[in-house]
Amino acid sequence: MSVESTESPVAEQEICVKCGICCDGTLFNHAELEPGEMSSGSLPKKIEQNYRKMGEKERFVLPCQYFEGKCTIYDQNRAIVCSAFRCQLLKDFSKGRITKYDADKTVLNALKFRNEIFELYKRIFGVDTKLSFRQLLTEIGKMPVPPAEQSKELALLKAQCNIYETLLIKNFKSIKTFKSMIDTTVEQ
Ligand code: SF4
Ligand code: SF4
Repeated sequence: MSVESTESPVAEQEICVKCGICCDGTLFNHAELEPGEMSSGSLPKKIEQNYRKMGEKERFVLPCQYFEGKCTIYDQNRAIVCSAFRCQLLKDFSKGRITKYDADKTVLNALKFRNEIFELYKRIFGVDTKLSFRQLLTEIGKMPVPPAEQSKELALLKAQCNIYETLLIKNFKSIKTFKSMIDTTVEQ
């Protein structure tokens, strides 16, 4: 995630508190830090511990270690991106393009669908995964061809992940990103 606005109206917070998919590794693998934030020494310890410099970008790895169903340091000093980031869903809500009911429903459906994917993973491999959704995608991408009895279910899991990723992009990432998936002439 990256910084886009510093507004955080109460209704938006009510949507976010039920969601958290920008913190828990569902939407992103990392969050952007502002220049100098790391060197200022003001970042929470676990964010500092997960700091990564990637080219010119300074980031911290997600899932955030402060996320336990919700942000556990919400009232404390956090990275700038933590209070400034607003996903496409929030922007659509703030511009009146969707109602609060629909925004809540979109969040609920996103969490439900993700749970179904994790349940399917558990059914196939017989273990509960502790991975985030993005880590799960990476893991699935590295998997060798499974035994025949698993291959159909694994194909289903991959298909579910692809559909889920498309829904995340459509509902939570930028409209530009979504359009780029269906129109190759649009630059990301
Ligand atoms: S993904 Fe959007 S709605 Fe969910 S917590 Fe992040 S900013 Fe809030
Ligand atoms: S500190 Fe809180 S808001 Fe910031 S990434 Fe971690 S869980 Fe999310």
